Amino acid sequence: MDVLLEADSVCAGYGSVEVLHDVSLNVRAGEVVVLLGSNGAGKTTTVRALAGIVKPSAGGVKWLGDGAFKPLHKRVREGMALITEHRAIVASLTVEENLRLNPRSSVQRSLELFPELVPLGKRKASLLSGGEQQILVAARTFAAEPKLLLADELSLGLAPIIVTRLLRSVRMAAESGLGVLIIEQQVRAALSIADRGYVMQHGRIVLEGTAAELSARIEEIEATYLSGVKEMNVTNGQ
Ligand code: ATP
Repeated sequence: MDVLLEADSVCAGYGSVEVLHDVSLNVRAGEVVVLLGSNGAGKTTTVRALAGIVKPSAGGVKWLGDGAFKPLHKRVREGMALITEHRAIVASLTVEENLRLNPRSSVQRSLELFPELVPLGKRKASLLSGGEQQILVAARTFAAEPKLLLADELSLGLAPIIVTRLLRSVRMAAESGLGVLIIEQQVRAALSIADRGYVMQHGRIVLEGTAAELSARIEEIEATYLSGVKEMNVTNGQ
């Protein structure tokens, strides 16, 4: 499988505060990689560094084999997509109008992928539920057929049935070749659709492995979420 995105010993932060320390990870075409870790572990900052929003102070990010720093809008033009918990919709526009906002995707393809949006086409996005809004964002994103998706808390605060729907759509898109890095608080649900994963703690990757390897250590991983301080026994999933 082709490596789409690679972080090599990335250090990054905000101002003089370093948040990420030597973060190395990669995402290949056609796989779902989950990034786990407690609040404040550095997951969003990692995604920001991978997306070109935060510039690494050391180490580098290679996107499509190119290690030059590029801001997000350039990476998006080259096939990177970013979905965050802040649903990128225009509330005053209808569902169909929102679907037209991405010049790289078509309304028809979006509705094929998420037929549940068909009856909502003429409805103002402001009148959609949170789950419907995130499905709208996902439809527009997947219809554009990006090479790589960075999804930061795709399903935050959504009903379990919507979480399942969204994660299943992520898995299906990966089956068609999309590479995905997903941050997800619902560890078990995320591991059920992931191929591999990384666990972060205090700005470092402390564990990595296949979804099966991480699932076998799920209680230990979840314990770090609850305590926020318990250190993981680092084995890199070997
Ligand atoms: P969560 O699961 O709570 O979203 P996270 O793992 O995504 O957490 P980050 O959001 O990357 O963690 O935050 C890592 C650290 O960086 C935290 O200590 C946080 O306070 C700090 N941080 C995040 N954003 C900023 C910012 N814009 N300016 C300064 N510090 C920040």
